Parts: sequence; structure tokens; C-alpha cells
Amino acid sequence: MKKIIIIGGGAGGFELATELGDKLGKTNQAAITLVDKNSYHLWKPLLHEVATGVLDEQVDNIYYASQGQQHYFQFTQGTFTNIDREKKQISFLNIKDETMFMDYDILVLAIGSTSNDFGTPGVKEHCIFLDDQNAAIRLRETLIAKFTSFCSIVDEKEIKDEDKIHIAIVGGGATGVELAAELPHMVEAFGACGRNKMCSDLLVVSVIEATDRILPALPAKTAASITQTLKNRGIRILTKTMITKAESDGFYPKEGNIIKADIMIWTAGVKAPDFLKEIAGLESSRSNQLVVKPTLQTTRDDNIFVIGDCAYAMQDNGHASPATAQAAQQMAKVCYENIVRLLNNQSLKVFKYVDKGTIITLHDTAQGVLKLIGKNEMSVKGRFALMIHRLLYRIHQASLLGIYKTIRFVSASKFMYKTKSSSIFTNRD
Ligand SMILES: Cc1cc2nc3c(=O)[nH]c(=O)nc-3n(C[C@H](O)[C@H](O)[C@H](O)COP(=O)(O)OP(=O)(O)OC[C@H]3O[C@@H](n4cnc5c(N)ncnc54)[C@H](O)[C@@H]3O)c2cc1C
Repeated sequence: MKKIIIIGGGAGGFELATELGDKLGKTNQAAITLVDKNSYHLWKPLLHEVATGVLDEQVDNIYYASQGQQHYFQFTQGTFTNIDREKKQISFLNIKDETMFMDYDILVLAIGSTSNDFGTPGVKEHCIFLDDQNAAIRLRETLIAKFTSFCSIVDEKEIKDEDKIHIAIVGGGATGVELAAELPHMVEAFGACGRNKMCSDLLVVSVIEATDRILPALPAKTAASITQTLKNRGIRILTKTMITKAESDGFYPKEGNIIKADIMIWTAGVKAPDFLKEIAGLESSRSNQLVVKPTLQTTRDDNIFVIGDCAYAMQDNGHASPATAQAAQQMAKVCYENIVRLLNNQSLKVFKYVDKGTIITLHDTAQGVLKLIGKNEMSVKGRFALMIHRLLYRIHQASLLGIYKTIRFVSASKFMYKTKSSSIFTNRD
């Protein structure tokens, strides 16, 4: 029986493992194994909600092992480290940190991306990155610890501007903007939990962007409107501000004074993990992604597919497909079909990325554009846009759990969020 290993159970890899399990694992045509460093899956586009307590990872997670049991694939928890292409073997560290090996006939790499500090001095040491659920949980704990220690000051003295909690986020892309928009609400929710002097006025949130506007992936008009919404909520938007170093007291721009920060967050771009660069002699891009052919097979090995953020898939327009969940999900679909075709000696399909638009959530509202047939764009705003963004998450859940289970999952999680009303997890729609 053919052995298929998928490494990384994120937006792309988890959907792929589930589909392959249902198709090939169920009928014993192949043995499918998913390897992930974590034991459960959380949808990465919602990490800013985990970080700010809007989403509870204990409610919204899906355990890989139980998904595998129901969808005919094996799950191994481990951190992938290397490939031996001659032996067709991967190596990984198990949960005891011991090196283990696993053989494959077909390998799929779907390990996503990590933050890119572009070598900026001090960033690694002083900044928090929103790379995975563990980082999001750590950020939430840091924020709560800061708010808690600040409570005693609020009780004792009049707060001046310099006494406030300064949070600076470098990177005006979707991650930075969505995170910034949640922070004032997090403080309000925290204040409502018996610390009623805590309010969003005590927070100074800055979004720092090197170029002349935030959200470059969106039309200028939409980005300007989102900028205004953020400003109305008291968030400072500092454009044309290039950060040259970070120190314990804040960010230092190329021009002007230090941007003071008690909590420093870096969301200024992503790259594939450093160890992927030319791993096992495979071709890689400048940002460590593995270069794939239109079939999503690596350029130097047809038995290795790469999908999602760690894949460099050049498109007809001369650009690589973007590092987004929608690209990862589209790649997962083509990769699934190509693995089935490969096993049946059929010709493989070509991956063509279709941009369906971008929606940015701003806590209780959202804004963005949907791409319609014929390259037309439709602007969406408000509760409707928020609903569409939520729908994308529900579609992801449905592709993992099926429609019936997703309905039960949503009902159960709504009940859990209502029941946990004494915690800060009260804002969920
Ligand atoms: C806050 C935030 C908001 C976002 N909003 C959007 C949005 O609105 N729309 C959109 O399209 N995209 C959005 N994105 C981007 C999107 O989340 C990613 O592009 C997408 O998750 C990439 O999917 P992936 O399958 O390549 O990797 P991921 O979903 O990141 O999954 C990678 C998996 O690999 C595992 N892994 C990593 N390294 C190893 C290793 N060495 N060994 C074993 N396992 C490993 C991880 O645990 C993880 O499960 C957002 C991202 C963030 C952070």
C-alpha cells in the first residue's frame, strides 16, 4: 500500500488529509499520515481573536487524532526537521524531543509560514509574533498580565498620557490591522469583568507601516475607509515609518523619535521557515518557500508536493500565489486531485489561483472587496461583510467536519461561549 505523508495540519494540509483519508484511506488504497507539531487545529486567520480573547481555543479547536479516526488517516504529533529523498524518509522530533523517521511514497509539505523580521535588530528579542496558536495564547496572557498590573495604578492615581499602556504593532497588513481593531474591545471586556476603571481610553495602540498606506492588498479607497474607522476608535496609524531597530522601550524609526511601547508586536510580513531553504536539495525562493511546478510538485522531485504559504507557485500574471488561507485551500483541492491521478497514472491538473477577494474584520464590523466573475469587484461593508468572513470559517469547518457536524459544532460552541460569561470570552457573535 502506498504511504502518503502530509506535514502540517493547517488551512491547506488538514483539509487535504481529511479528503485523502475519505477517498484513499477508507478504501485501503493508501496509508495516509498527518504530522503536525501541535495536537489540535485552529484556523490561523482567527489567531488575532485568540490573542484578544474573542475566540477560545478550547472551544474552537479540532483534535487531529479524533479527526483522523473518523476520516481514515493516522496522526503523529512531531516537529518535522528534514527529508532524505534517496531513502524517501522524513525525520522529525517526537513529543519527547527524540529524532524519529518515517517512510513515504508521496510527501506533501504544508507547514505554513513564520514572521519575517527582515533582519531588523532587536525584533527577535523584544517582539511578539502571531505565528501560531501558542504564540497567540502567549500574547493574550501578556496582555492580561499587563492589564491586571495596570489596574492598581488606575485605582491609585490620575492617568496621564505617558502612563497609559502603549501597544505598537509593526505591519499594516491584515494581521496587524485586525489585531489592532480588537485591542480596545479587549480592554473594555476586561474592564467589564469587575475592573470598571479599565477602559479603552487607557490604551495607546499604534499601527506602524513603512509604505504610504495600510492594507496594500485592498483598493486605496477601501484602505482609506478602514484607516478612518481605526482612527475613530483611537488607533494611531503611522505610515511612511520605517523601523530600523527595536529595544526594550519601543521601536526606533529611520526618522523621528522612538515609538514607545510596553508591548511590541511584529506582523510585518511572512517567510517560510528558515530550515526549508534548499532542504534536501530542493529549489527554494528568496523567502525560503519551495518552488513548485504548476502541478504543485517540487521542481526537483515529483514525489514531493508543496501547498500553502510554504509553496512558491508562479502564476500566469508573473506573481507567485499569495500566502493566504484561500490560496492554501485552493492548492489543497488541486493537490488532492493530483495525488489521486498520480496513483492512477493519469495526467495531473494545473493549479491556477483564483482571487475571491479580501475582507478585513474590525471586531464588530468588517470591510473589503469580493471579486466577482469577469474580474468585477464588489465592495462589502458592515455586518454583511462580517457575516461573509465568518462564513469562510464555517466553510472551512464544513470541509473538515461535514455540514451536519458543523451545525452541531456551531450550536455547541455558541452555548459554551454563553456559559463562560464570567471570562473575557464574551464577545463572540
Ligand atoms: C491573524 C491572521 C489573520 C489572517 N487572515 C486571513 C484572511 O482573512 N484570509 C486569508 O485568506 N488568509 C488570512 N491569513 C493567512 C492565513 O492564515 C495563512 O495564509 C494560511 O493559514 C496558510 O495555510 P497553510 O496551510 O499554508 O499553513 P498554516 O495554516 O499556517 O498551517 C501550518 C501547519 O503546519 C504546522 N507546522 C509548522 N511547522 C511544522 C513543523 N516543523 N513540523 C510539523 N508541523 C509544523 C503548524 O502547526 C500548522 O498546523 C491570516 C493570518 C493571520 C496570522
